[in-house]
Amino acid sequence: MKTIKAEYIWLDGQKPTAELRSKTKIIEGPVTKLAQIPDWGFDGSSTEQAEGRFSDCALKPVSFFPDPLREEGDILVMCEVMHADGSVHESNSRARLRKIAKKYASAAPWFGIEQEYTLFRDGKPLGFPEKGFPAPQGPYYCGVGAHHIFGRELVEDHLEASLRAGLKVSGVNAEVMPGQWEFQIGPLGPLEVADQLWLGRWLLHQLGEEYGISVTLSPKPVQGDWNGAGGHVNFSTKAMRKPGGIKAVEAACKKLERKHQDHIEVYGAGNEKRLTGKHETCSIHEFRFGVSDRGASIRIPMSTAQKKSGYLEDRRPAANMDPYKVCARLIETVCGK
Ligand code: ADP
Ligand code: MN
Ligand code: MN
Ligand code: MN
Repeated sequence: MKTIKAEYIWLDGQKPTAELRSKTKIIEGPVTKLAQIPDWGFDGSSTEQAEGRFSDCALKPVSFFPDPLREEGDILVMCEVMHADGSVHESNSRARLRKIAKKYASAAPWFGIEQEYTLFRDGKPLGFPEKGFPAPQGPYYCGVGAHHIFGRELVEDHLEASLRAGLKVSGVNAEVMPGQWEFQIGPLGPLEVADQLWLGRWLLHQLGEEYGISVTLSPKPVQGDWNGAGGHVNFSTKAMRKPGGIKAVEAACKKLERKHQDHIEVYGAGNEKRLTGKHETCSIHEFRFGVSDRGASIRIPMSTAQKKSGYLEDRRPAANMDPYKVCARLIETVCGK
């Protein structure tokens, strides 16, 4: 027996965009299974999840990972928010994904999410001069050198921490605007990818504290001729992945076309500033899909077109989307009738 630090992490009740909250509980370790982690609670009146008079909300642990920022044995605990009586809280978007994932489990949906983000210091993106603007976009994406790249130490620390936490990161890259970066999680099932994306975000925010750098998931952090930040969702089902699955990919695109507006509603607040039809996006008012088309709503990757099976990339979600809501919406549209 040894006590450990468990960092309980949850989503708050802010609208339209929930933010991460966390606090530490000292518990008995070592923890090897979820059932060993006690339920906990917090003051919902400080997180827009309760009125002052009945302010207790409950935290129900749903997954846990080694905490890469503390000692061996310490853990990060992803939680769902419940009412004190154990019923699901309105802000708990994961509970709904849980139901939908179960209902459509036989379709075996996989997700790979690309999380773009922008690093800020003193109210400006890293790489932006005191006054005015840096040189136009072009050389920054996947660039190298101090004249093109800003914040790599934090990005490297974050990658290392994510891997040590056991997150299934598939890669990282510098993005089109200076100070903008991306990491990808997946492919994984819906609950796994969404929990891991939220934890990846949490690690990034926390590591940013050490550098005095704040991370924004704003879909359009700088107005004008600067790329926005997206949260592309790569999606497949068992039917898409098997030989000849391209038919299922195309059928999915047609279903997605009919539900365009329902999807936009959960694809992130302020996304209309990003989905303009410029900067590698399709207008928020249109729906188009195409092979290798980075100006489409849905891109069918070249590899999928060539192999005639694989996955599709939904390019519409913004960087600030809630992956619980987005994964649920995609499964319902594509796997529903
Ligand atoms: P892009 O070319 O759009 O920048 P990335 O390489 O950044 O693409 O991200 C692609 C994501 O798709 C990765 O997270 C990868 O794991 C994921 N992916 C690969 N195959 C599948 C699949 N069959 N289903 C869902 N996601 C997948
Ligand atoms: Mn990418
Ligand atoms: Mn990108
Ligand atoms: Mn992409």
